[in-house]
Order: sequence, then C-alpha cells, then structure tokens
Amino acid sequence: MTDTIVIAELHNNAVHPSTAELVSAAAQLGNAPTIVVPCTDAAVADGALGLGGAAVIAAKSDAFQNYDAAGWAAAIDAVAPQGIIVTGASPQSKDLAARLAARRSLSVVQDAVAIDGTNITSPLYSGKAMQTVAIGGNVVVSVRSNIFPAASGGADAVSVVDTSGDIATSVQEFMARASERLDVAEANIIVSGGRGMGSPDNFTHLEALADTIGAAVGASRAAVDTWEAIPHSMQVGQTGKTVNPNLYIAVGISGAIQHLAGMRSSKYIVAINKDADAPIFQHADYGIVATWEEALPVLQAKLASMMA
Ligand SMILES: Cc1cc2nc3c(=O)[nH]c(=O)nc-3n(C[C@H](O)[C@H](O)[C@H](O)COP(=O)(O)OP(=O)(O)OC[C@H]3O[C@@H](n4cnc5c(N)ncnc54)[C@H](O)[C@@H]3O)c2cc1C
Repeated sequence: MTDTIVIAELHNNAVHPSTAELVSAAAQLGNAPTIVVPCTDAAVADGALGLGGAAVIAAKSDAFQNYDAAGWAAAIDAVAPQGIIVTGASPQSKDLAARLAARRSLSVVQDAVAIDGTNITSPLYSGKAMQTVAIGGNVVVSVRSNIFPAASGGADAVSVVDTSGDIATSVQEFMARASERLDVAEANIIVSGGRGMGSPDNFTHLEALADTIGAAVGASRAAVDTWEAIPHSMQVGQTGKTVNPNLYIAVGISGAIQHLAGMRSSKYIVAINKDADAPIFQHADYGIVATWEEALPVLQAKLASMMA
C-alpha cells in the first residue's frame, strides 16, 4: 500500500482537531499516515499525538512563523516522506497543496468530499456538478472538513526535524484585523447576513443571535463589497470561504449561485427573506418569508429560552 502523509491543520499555533479527519481520509488512500506538523516550537506537534497517525514529525522552521506558500512548501518538502499528501481545504491549505504538488511534480485534487478506494470525489462548477477522479500513484489531496470521521490512537512520540537554516525567505509579520469572533471556517453554526440587512450596523442583530447559539457570523459578497465595516474574512461563497456547518442561517441573502457554492453542503439551511421567490428558499430546509426585522427578534427570544 502507498504511504500517506497528513499536513496538520493549525489554528492559533495549535494542531486543530480537524487534523484527525484528514488522518481518516488518508487512511482510506494508503497506509496509516505520517502526520507532519509545521511549527516553530516542536512542542506544538504533541497536539497531533493520538490523532491516528502512525508517526508524528515536528517540522520545525522559522518559515512557519507566518504563512507564505513558497517558504512553507519548501520547508515541508524537505521533511515529508514520499507518498500521497493530504491537506485541509481551507484557502491557505489548498494553496499549500498546489505548491507541494508543483514541487513534487504531482497532480493535485482539491476539495475532496468522498474517497472510495483510489477514486476521489470533489465538487466543481461551484458545486453544480461532482467529479470523481481515479488516482494511479502519489498525488496531493485537499480534504473538506466535517466529512470524514475523526481518527484516534496512533503515535505516542514526536520526531523533530529542524530545517530553520535552509529557508531563503519567510514572512516576518502578519497584521490581522482585530476580531474576537469565531471564524466561519471553524464554526458548526453560522448566521450570515446579506445586503438585505440594510446597513452594517444591523449586523449587531446577527451577532446577538450568534452569541445566543454559539455561532459565527458570515456575510454575502454584496454585504462585504457594500460595507467596509464587514470584512472580507466573513465572506462565504465562491470567492470567499467554503463552509460546511451543521446549521447555516441565511438572513437577507438572495441565494445567488456564487453564494450557494460556499454553503450549499451545510447539513441544515434556514433562510429568512422577505421575498418568497428568493432562490435561497429552493435550497433551504426551513424558510421564513418575513423581514429580518420581524423574524429575528422572535427567533432570538425562542432560541434564548431554549438555551437557558
Ligand atoms: C465571479 C463572482 C464571484 C462571486 N462570489 C461571491 C461569493 O463568494 N459570495 C457571495 O455571496 N456572492 C458572490 N458573488 C456575488 C453574487 O452573484 C451576488 O451578487 C451576491 O451573493 C448577492 O448578495 P446578497 O444576496 O446579499 O444581495 P442581494 O442579491 O441584493 O439580495 C438581498 C436579499 O435580501 C432580501 N431582503 C431585503 N430586505 C430584507 C429584509 N428587511 N428582511 C429580509 N430579507 C430582505 C431581498 O429580498 C434579497 O433576496 C460573486 C459574483 C461573481 C460574478
């Protein structure tokens, strides 16, 4: 069987639990995977122990301080064994997957949602069609989250490989816009607002609902483009983030194909829109035909009493 390598997903300088899902996906493609953890401090790789990997390698390098496709791909390529490489499917991880594939002259399959033997299925044309490709050797595969079960067990020791001296360039500082809110790419529940919210100030109503049910707040591109106060990091869709939560509540969002491309695989979709003919209702499990001004206070009060 082919060897497999999982590149650990990281969040706030810690191994993200979704790495265990990548391990399950990799195990379907070949041998129990080696987990490679890009890090500046080898202790971070301890977070990959018990996630089902046969071995855990702490790839220690100053290059991993901040993301830079060229530096990260070079540092990982120097450490990761040969085999099928599995990454997450966040924008950063897909970028890295493509870079790694180019460095190793491998094909890349992005956004895998199903694996059956050597057949890998992924959506294309903004989710309007699914394609299944058969792989015949080593490839790089990015895998969407919330699809494969989390693996457990595996390696109980980390080997450290330090490549700090080998990197020509690295990004020294990354200045993120301050936000304490949960990222949509991380969330199990998302409340998203569109242009129908009327003003960025009205997103406070979405934030209040989100706080009640532990959700992240997302937005359509129209909202992000229209209002400077709504950052691009909140955008869901073809040119924003692809999300796969258990519950997606779309408020004042029409349901354009480019928005659906980023959220249509959510397990349950609830739409609030004053226009009964809005396309979003064709994809919603539950639809509320009302203005958000009418619907949100009722929903908020009901959910607050249920959560109390
Ligand atoms: C190449 C390309 C890429 C794109 N990528 C993305 C993307 O990544 N993500 C994305 O979202 N879009 C994307 N778009 C834009 C997309 O085509 C739509 O323009 C956009 O999604 C519309 O956003 P919206 O639904 O918020 O706004 P609108 O289409 O203006 O819809 C607003 C909705 O709010 C409803 N409404 C109004 N007032 C109220 C109220 N008081 N209460 C309840 N409902 C109300 C209206 O009935 C309407 O349905 C892309 C477009 C292109 C061409």
